[in-house]
Amino acid sequence: MDYDLVVIGCGAGGLAAAVAYADLAGPEARIAVLERATREGRGGATRWTSSWFRITADRQLDPAFIPLMQHLGEGKADMEYCHVYASEVPATFDFLDRHGVPWVYFEQFFANRNTGGGLAMPVPGGVAIVDTLAAAIDALPNASIHYETEAVALQTDAAGTVTGVQVRTPSGPALLTARAVVLACGGFEGAKDLLTEHLGERGTALPVIAPTLVNNLGDGLRLTQPLGGDVAGQFDMFHGEPIDTRSSKPDAVVYAYPYGIVVNAKAQRFFDEGADSFDSTFERLGYEIWAYQDQKAFFIAEKAVLDWPNVAAIILSDMPPIEAPTLEALALQLGLPVDALVSTVREYNAAIQPGETDRRILDGKRTRGLSPEKSNWATPIQQGSFIAYPLTCAITFTFGGIRSDAQARVLRRDGSAIEGLYAAGEVTGLYYKEYPAGTSVLRALTFGRIAARQASAARS
Ligand SMILES: Cc1cc2nc3c(=O)[nH]c(=O)nc-3n(C[C@H](O)[C@H](O)[C@H](O)COP(=O)(O)OP(=O)(O)OC[C@H]3O[C@@H](n4cnc5c(N)ncnc54)[C@H](O)[C@@H]3O)c2cc1C
Repeated sequence: MDYDLVVIGCGAGGLAAAVAYADLAGPEARIAVLERATREGRGGATRWTSSWFRITADRQLDPAFIPLMQHLGEGKADMEYCHVYASEVPATFDFLDRHGVPWVYFEQFFANRNTGGGLAMPVPGGVAIVDTLAAAIDALPNASIHYETEAVALQTDAAGTVTGVQVRTPSGPALLTARAVVLACGGFEGAKDLLTEHLGERGTALPVIAPTLVNNLGDGLRLTQPLGGDVAGQFDMFHGEPIDTRSSKPDAVVYAYPYGIVVNAKAQRFFDEGADSFDSTFERLGYEIWAYQDQKAFFIAEKAVLDWPNVAAIILSDMPPIEAPTLEALALQLGLPVDALVSTVREYNAAIQPGETDRRILDGKRTRGLSPEKSNWATPIQQGSFIAYPLTCAITFTFGGIRSDAQARVLRRDGSAIEGLYAAGEVTGLYYKEYPAGTSVLRALTFGRIAARQASAARS
């Protein structure tokens, strides 16, 4: 065998698998990490994510995750996998600490369902995971990252055990034989054909939220289908987010929408902006904009909201807001019907119920008599200047993927495990209906570690 381990993918899942394997098998282990992109473009989704971790102050996965997955999955989500994930999260943070990945825990100012107010993230974001773990690989004598090298097929022996990976490299095709292979090559958010197949024609109307997502082409599915691989997760659902239409910056999400209103191209509201904390509604808002509003919406607010504590910090766009002294002038700038915007705002203001607003909690300050209502943080939009951000939905990741179990083994449709093959991260399907925010990078890291443990145990 050329390698002890070949890992397909250089994001959180793949790098965690490679580094954890060397921890277990020893620094002499022969490891190849395959990356379709160049060195500069490496790291997949992980490179661009802020990488919020949905954890408590004592490094546990948010205890609400398990019941939430049970509820959302309606019996389809693999709950054994979810329990193992939760139980392994503290060890994942030990792993990050051991390898010097910097991360912080912080309390959130805004109401959020996650952990009652806390989150963590690597510093300055997912790129810290990529750069730190890639440096750990580079420091090993027999391990390396193979850039511009893509996996095109898995090789198996007569018994169906995976024994290697056929690759395309800048110098031509090659076969890398291996004792074990880990699939960590992301979802299919970059694959127009698969998006069309599973989301319909409008699947191609989704821009990717970060440039390197174009490398995530659903290869986990393509590589395992010939081996009888099973699938999991909801294929016609995805995680998308409302981004500033004008921005080309990765992750240009406008999270401040609960503190104003969102209207469509007819200047009509179509979404309860205050239904819940923004980390629980941003995916639904993105989906609504894509599915029902022809990819066009506008966040409208008083300019004064930008001075409220921390609101400007949750607008990740690099573009300034569109600003006007009156709603009429704002509508003209946005190309919206003037009378419609003025009357939407007037009706909204008139429907607001008395009471104090408090952005740290679901304050119940709501409207009555609107369709849809605004359930929290309903404050009037009446004092100019007024601001707007044009919104569209960008895809972050797909829900459907290959089926893996709690030991990170890749499963066939008959339920058996494909020997020698493991998987971690977004390549594996898990979510249904809704993505519990802040659980994806941590899942990739955790199952990368588990895949390494299984592969190393199988070797000895
Ligand atoms: C802008 C943004 C914000 C996000 N915010 C959060 C957040 O706050 N919290 C959170 O938990 N998650 C968040 N996510 C989601 C999260 O980043 C991803 O789910 C996670 O990073 C996936 O890691 P991964 O290792 O599975 O895949 P990736 O990091 O996407 O890595 C996949 C790798 O596989 C490579 N590849 C693909 N096919 C092949 C092939 N055939 N051969 C060789 N290489 C291949 C790709 O080039 C890439 O290097 C966000 C994502 C984005 C883009």
